[in-house]
Amino acid sequence: MTRIQPSKIVCVGRNYAKHAAELGNDVPVEPLIFLKPPSSLVFEGDDIVLPQGAGRVDFEGEIGVIIGRRARNVAAADAWDCVEALIAVNDVTARDLQRTDGQWTRAKGFDSFCPVGTPIPLAEVDRSALGVRTRVNGEVRQDGPASDMVFDIPAIIAHISSIMTLEPGDLIATGTPDGIGPLSAGDEVVVEIVGVGSVTNRVVAGH
Ligand code: MG
Repeated sequence: MTRIQPSKIVCVGRNYAKHAAELGNDVPVEPLIFLKPPSSLVFEGDDIVLPQGAGRVDFEGEIGVIIGRRARNVAAADAWDCVEALIAVNDVTARDLQRTDGQWTRAKGFDSFCPVGTPIPLAEVDRSALGVRTRVNGEVRQDGPASDMVFDIPAIIAHISSIMTLEPGDLIATGTPDGIGPLSAGDEVVVEIVGVGSVTNRVVAGH
């Protein structure tokens, strides 16, 4: 299994209208971005650890993009040329802390809060039919086509690369569709880029 080592993990918030609505938020007028620390990464089969006292912790299944070459001020029309692979991402989120903190570093940044699968080379992917599906204990909880994204993947790359240089290996998490929900110790959560690749993790209580 390839274990990615991004210099940064850039995430897009509220990028599916129905997900924004389910949390009582409007869709942003430009991509809303935040960072997760690389120390939050875990891999196939690793545990998602619920931090003690953090309150509600949610799964967020997302399509991840792995950058293949340095990207700075890339036009959307050229953005796919900068992509090396896609990867299933679970943007695990301490929902209560996200609300109370006002900024998202803690809520998104705990160790184990970024499970990722194996990178799937872009050349092996049908980009015209992307979607992400999340199952918890075998039950489908999220099933969102990428065509529902407010900002598509090229627009996201163009936007982020206008702010910060994207380095080879960097990971972008492109937002979650509706259906997010809380995780409990003992749950098994699977995020799948449908027909492309997935990541499976067990949830455990922290001490
Ligand atoms: Mg997310």
